Amino acid sequence: MTKLSVFAAALVAVSATLSATQPVYAAGNTDTDHDNQFAIAIHGGAGTITRANLSDEQEAAYKAKLTEALNAGHTILAEGGTSMDAVIAAVQIMEDSPLFNSGRGAVYTFDGEHELDASIMDGKTLEAGAVAGVKTIKSPIALARKVMENSVHVMLSGEGAEQFASEQGLERVSNDYFDTEHRYQQLQQARERLGVADKQAYLDLDDKYKYGTVGAVAVDKHGNLSAATSTGGMTAKRYGRIGDSPIIGAGTWADNASCAVSATGHGEYFIRYHVAADICSRVKYLGDSVEEAGDTVIHDVLLPAGGTGGVIIVDAKGNVHMPFNTEGMYRASRVGDGETEVAIYKD
Ligand code: ASP
Repeated sequence: MTKLSVFAAALVAVSATLSATQPVYAAGNTDTDHDNQFAIAIHGGAGTITRANLSDEQEAAYKAKLTEALNAGHTILAEGGTSMDAVIAAVQIMEDSPLFNSGRGAVYTFDGEHELDASIMDGKTLEAGAVAGVKTIKSPIALARKVMENSVHVMLSGEGAEQFASEQGLERVSNDYFDTEHRYQQLQQARERLGVADKQAYLDLDDKYKYGTVGAVAVDKHGNLSAATSTGGMTAKRYGRIGDSPIIGAGTWADNASCAVSATGHGEYFIRYHVAADICSRVKYLGDSVEEAGDTVIHDVLLPAGGTGGVIIVDAKGNVHMPFNTEGMYRASRVGDGETEVAIYKD
């Protein structure tokens, strides 16, 4: 063999190896670097939220907090910041509020504690970070970001995650920092209804005891998508139960090539039906719009299976859709410099 033919044979071998290891579909996107239509959408949980069970004062308080969270993210986007910074800013405002089942207002476990879950995903790189069952982290979404950026892992849980938080210099609090009277009352009512750990009794529990997760999705001026979700899980959860919120593909998903999704609802169904990733796969492979993909999964797939809840979705062009199959979902959105939409009920 001449030197040249040895070189040619080596080249063929290298390119064969490379193509065998390349993904069939190049996920994510690079920056498009033009003035993209930026957009943000947030949720504060879905469930039996009707005018009859929310006073005017409560409604005003929820709308004010949703607006504050939306504006925080929107300002970052309008100034040319990243969708990652925008979703974190929006979620942290809701984590700090006792109104929502995340951070400060997290629900109680059956044993009277709080165990928090959160996750984040970057649609440009498909990097992700998640934490589950943490009890002392003031901002679980901040920890999820640290896991994504500063660890070699995607998901950390329990005491290990808390040790990592300390090493990363994140604020830790005692578990009773998350105590609120209204969530405590919900636990008492739920425990009365549950008695022993009965599967059917738990399924029959009114969803006001279950939901309230927060989340945000955004696309920035560079065309990059991000999604973030943070929760206390479900009231009276036991045995270290973990829901969909920290599970990448179930409660959270972002891919520049399709869309970004954050979910809220009965987590077990969102895990089994892989809701967030399923919506984005429909956009990516079937060419569905975010409306078509979101409505199909929430109304035609999830509901007949018994799964209740909703999602917020944004795509790279700034299209926003927020479908839910419950009576209400705390939600807000704003596309570019357009109108701010804040809503709670179905109509
Ligand atoms: N999806 C959350 C969970 O199952 C609950 C919620 O959305 O409020 O943990």
